[in-house]
Amino acid sequence: MVTPRDRTTASSLSVLVPTRWDLWSLRPRALAYVLVVDALALAVIVLGFVWRPASAHDWVVGGLLFLGAAVHAEAARHIERVRISRTDRPFIDLKSMWTFAGLLLMHLGPALVLVTVTFAYWWIRNEQHPPPHRWIFSWATVVLGTGAAALVLVDFDRAALLTSAAGPRGLLLIAGAAVARWTVNHGLVVGIILLLSSSPTVRRHLASPSDTLLGLGALALGAALAVLAAASPWLVPILLVPVIMLHRGVLVDQFRQAARTDPKTGLANGAAWAEIAAKELARARRIGSGLAVLMVDLDNFKAVNDAHGHLAGDEVLRAVAATLAAEVRAYDAVGRFGGEEFVVLLSGVDTAAAARTADRLRLRIRAIDVTVPGVGGPSHIRGLTASVGCVASPTAAGTVDELVGAADGALYEAKRAGRDRVVTAPPA
Ligand code: GH3
Ligand code: MG
Ligand code: MG
Repeated sequence: MVTPRDRTTASSLSVLVPTRWDLWSLRPRALAYVLVVDALALAVIVLGFVWRPASAHDWVVGGLLFLGAAVHAEAARHIERVRISRTDRPFIDLKSMWTFAGLLLMHLGPALVLVTVTFAYWWIRNEQHPPPHRWIFSWATVVLGTGAAALVLVDFDRAALLTSAAGPRGLLLIAGAAVARWTVNHGLVVGIILLLSSSPTVRRHLASPSDTLLGLGALALGAALAVLAAASPWLVPILLVPVIMLHRGVLVDQFRQAARTDPKTGLANGAAWAEIAAKELARARRIGSGLAVLMVDLDNFKAVNDAHGHLAGDEVLRAVAATLAAEVRAYDAVGRFGGEEFVVLLSGVDTAAAARTADRLRLRIRAIDVTVPGVGGPSHIRGLTASVGCVASPTAAGTVDELVGAADGALYEAKRAGRDRVVTAPPA
């Protein structure tokens, strides 16, 4: 598992120069935490070799596992690029199965060398070359997690572990080792996220149940891989097929979310908003309450693009989206209808309340101040105006399309009457 910040990109290989790392600008406590974790990881590797020297067999197994991990990484590359770009939580790396299998098949020292080599490989193969010190920290959390797992297995005859001779104890030990590795690895990552973030809420940063299942699932696959590899290394490629399928399966959830989101603003897209609105309409009818739909269109937005360029225009659209989302209640739905048009669904409001909210949104948009880079230095885009069409349905009668149509008609009236105003359609 790696921290979400590992995804930040660095422009060139100059990131390899330690003095350039933004590590040194961390708060002292966070810096100390990172350095202690990194140093402990190094110490554990040294201890691993002191405790039990590696055998020639270890290096052969380690080499084959590295080969498998590399094939896995390459086969899942495209899928993982999508996956890693779409999550804000710690990223669960399914490739951990190889290093966990390594621990079950080798002595601790070479198992940690396998961790190190695979991390180096993934860093080199990552086109964006994530900042090395963050990568090193992620590596250290895996090394320490692996060390913790090794402690669970320390008393057991390793030759018997992957055979039926281990009996049910084998299952308990391997499960214990997996949980130890996951907990230490994840705990250390959450630790640094907490030290770096300003919000003290631990829960938000913890892995979701499905992430935990995924993380432990990867380790379970590692155990299966180890048994298979111990029985016949030639059978290992068979396991790669379901593993790649798993990568694809994990993506489905993210695609579902992406299909509902406008990528530019992060708001619900038109289709997703209409779906939410239809549900809300049915709910309002059931409980006998009203609702309203607002259609917000920026005035003369083409002029913003013409004056500052489309990228600046996009920045403004994002600012407007954030303003609208921040200005309504959590259970109201804001969507990007298209271009510079936004739709807002207000639950449990009558015509007067909807018109008041509409006017507040109009004034908030007017207060937006976006700084954009320009040829002669940064410039401000401010004084934006918007026209709003508003329609309320006190009995939640009609369909979403009818409400949107009525709001759109009112918006047209607002534009015709000179823009920068709210026009309310008669109640639907
Ligand atoms: P009006 O007051 O009549 O609404 O004038 P307007 O210029 O806002 O409206 P018009 O419909 O003529 O043009 C909308 C403009 O919005 C044209 C288009 O360049 C711009 N636009 C639409 N989508 C985007 C986008 O995603 N990014 C940027 N930067 N501009 C966009
Ligand atoms: Mg417009
Ligand atoms: Mg428009």
